[in-house]
Amino acid sequence: MKPDIAAGPARTALKSRLPQLRVWHEAGYVSYPWRKGVPGKRDPYPVWIAEVMAQQTRLATVVPYFEHWMQTFPRLQDVAAATEQEILKAWEGLGYYRRALNLHKAARLIMERHGAQIPAARDALLALPGIGRYTAGAILSLCFDRPEPAVDANVVRLFSRLLAKPLTQGRPRDIDEIDRIIRDLLRPRTAMSPGMLAEALMVLGSRVCVPRTPRCPECPLAPSCLTFVQGADRRGAPKSRKADVAERHFAGFFLEAHVEETRCVLLVRNRESGMLGGLWSFPALPLSDSQALSRAEIRLLVRQALHLEVWDLHDGPRLVQGYSHFRRRQSIYRACTRPELPAAGFWTEARWVPITELQTYPMSVIDQKMAQAFRE
Ligand code: SF4
Repeated sequence: MKPDIAAGPARTALKSRLPQLRVWHEAGYVSYPWRKGVPGKRDPYPVWIAEVMAQQTRLATVVPYFEHWMQTFPRLQDVAAATEQEILKAWEGLGYYRRALNLHKAARLIMERHGAQIPAARDALLALPGIGRYTAGAILSLCFDRPEPAVDANVVRLFSRLLAKPLTQGRPRDIDEIDRIIRDLLRPRTAMSPGMLAEALMVLGSRVCVPRTPRCPECPLAPSCLTFVQGADRRGAPKSRKADVAERHFAGFFLEAHVEETRCVLLVRNRESGMLGGLWSFPALPLSDSQALSRAEIRLLVRQALHLEVWDLHDGPRLVQGYSHFRRRQSIYRACTRPELPAAGFWTEARWVPITELQTYPMSVIDQKMAQAFRE
């Protein structure tokens, strides 16, 4: 492939490749359920839901959650009318639950402020909870064909290589630079509409200009890519240093009691501002290390932390759950107690829940595993 980058500045070279980018994008189009219709004219509600779900989550993982969500809440009005518990239940397993709570709040604000229409203005979108610069750009370009860049981590890596320059996701100066280049590419009218360019760049970044070994021979922008043309180190994208994963240890309790003849289990609701905010959990107490505790130590721990007396104590399996910045190791115990509410702790509410209703409460993955372990 003959480089054309030498003929002019990087941006000019890039602009000249837009017809090839368009052909590449149309030929290899991968359809997802939220990509119905032409980019630039999509329904903003499914696009918004998919973009929020896809933050920190692979698209293949998002698909079943998205489909379930759209069946449960086919319209924005349905999200606004739902309870927080229904929203979290539909999000259960996707993680980063703050995203769901923000969606809920934003849907209610859209009903109040914008008559159930997702606004087509950047400032109005940015004023909604959970909508940042990237999501606003994605909605405006993909749904309203506005020349508003949508710069996610994949697009940052792509431009970092195109310009052979270390650009970093999360550094506003770098995002501004990419933003300006994309706006320039769209001026004056070019081979691609804003919606199509936004989508093609996202797809190229996620499927071809991939983190470890970019697939340059398949790349329609290769002749205008400085990294490719100069033969520079193709791993020139910002490196994500794999830090040692911290471990945290917990003891989780499946506490049973009879409330008026009904077999119940104790659940607590996590503070909204904390991790797994708004979800229900089995009470869990932090431990200083992984050392196994004796029965007497566990009884003492529960008495001191929850002000509950327990008996008939059994161990369950040890559970492990990875989060973005630590690994949680949880020893789990089942015990009987009296149906009293525990002392205040890392939760906003505690409730004795009939075991038959457990599945109606939104829970994190580790609590679902715990429920499963004791059901079996
Ligand atoms: Fe990325 Fe290679 Fe394309 Fe350059 S040529 S943008 S390094 S895939």
